[in-house]
Amino acid sequence: MTHENTQSHSDRRSFIATGLVASAAILATGPGLVWADGAAFVVPKLAYGFDALEPHIDAKTMEIHHDKHHGAYVANLNKAIAGNADLAKLTIEELLADKAAKVPEAIRQAVINNGGGHYNHTLFWASLAPNAGGEPKGQLADAIKSTFTDFASFTGKMNEAGMKRFGSGWAWLAKTADGKLEIYSTANQDSPIMEGKKAILGIDVWEHAYYLKYQNLRADYLKAIWNVINWAEVEKRFA
Ligand code: MN
Repeated sequence: MTHENTQSHSDRRSFIATGLVASAAILATGPGLVWADGAAFVVPKLAYGFDALEPHIDAKTMEIHHDKHHGAYVANLNKAIAGNADLAKLTIEELLADKAAKVPEAIRQAVINNGGGHYNHTLFWASLAPNAGGEPKGQLADAIKSTFTDFASFTGKMNEAGMKRFGSGWAWLAKTADGKLEIYSTANQDSPIMEGKKAILGIDVWEHAYYLKYQNLRADYLKAIWNVINWAEVEKRFA
């Protein structure tokens, strides 16, 4: 254990839920995000209505995606670690770190799938907003330009990563351990945090994220989602 000097983890989860304390681990993934309530992981409330992202993402998709899909990841994560006092003390970041190395092998894949699902979706909801889109500002804008030439090239590369992901997964803008921006994709609910990278922006390319409105047309969904990216939140994550 590496947290002898911090409050107990279940206390820390309570503090996260009530927003009273921000530890380094919390700041690393973004201020204001809710991961857990007491010892149980919870699905955070959306900061906007299910229909707020219309017409780009439809209300029914948002409702099913948030309540049912994210809900199932959280329920199954809590179930996977139930009865394991050592794991119940860990934050979501600590559970997933180093490909969930702290988690016993028998339940490691369940924690990767469902803990990754919880982590990725919590970031995703906060990365979206109504009346959003456009381009980032400040340090993130500068880093995107110096890494990918310009904003259009950046979105093109993100969309390409999303299109090339066969089956289910995510397209990511991540920051590597040495501070560089990187675009890549992961399968299933694998997350940059599992390999020591910081997730800046993730685009969910599972069919459940777009199928009701876009059916098989993942490219149309990827084109539309740039209209609802909450750059102010994404910039905070990069800073
Ligand atoms: Mn999803």
